[in-house]
Amino acid sequence: MPDDLRVILYPDPRLKKKSVPVKVFDDNLRKTALRMLELMREHEGVGLAAPQVGLNIRLFVVNATGKPEDDKIYVNPVLSEADGDEEFEEGCLSLPDIKVAIRRPTERVKMTAQDLDGQPFEEIGEGFITRIWQHENDHLNGIMIIDRMGPVAKLTYRKKLRELEEEFEEGK
Ligand SMILES: [Zn+2]
Repeated sequence: MPDDLRVILYPDPRLKKKSVPVKVFDDNLRKTALRMLELMREHEGVGLAAPQVGLNIRLFVVNATGKPEDDKIYVNPVLSEADGDEEFEEGCLSLPDIKVAIRRPTERVKMTAQDLDGQPFEEIGEGFITRIWQHENDHLNGIMIIDRMGPVAKLTYRKKLRELEEEFEEGK
């Protein structure tokens, strides 16, 4: 049930799975997306992907500004036509206290997705929002920021990651 959803942390194996397309656009999907927006706000995040609440479906929510009117829901998103190459520090609600500088094309990115009714739509994004799109889209493919970090960051966060692994084992 959507009410029970919570943010799961590394190294939960559901974060490593490739998610499947959404085929049924029903009330449960709507409740799930709304609950994800709520969780994103509670955790002061700018985006949250379904695998981060333990659901391996192609759905994520985004809010780049914190204003309620900027809540966005993307079902079955596809990103294309990306330009540019910018490095910026990213965090992740499933990796507390970890920040990784990641290069991504953020000048111009095309998003094609469906809304909660299954209606297709298209957006052209620039800058920060496209970075969130790419970060969340990575989650749908089982990719996290630690998979994109270089050797220095790996060394920096080795201890922190081990702590998270131990906590996960203990919580089982
Ligand atoms: Zn993330």
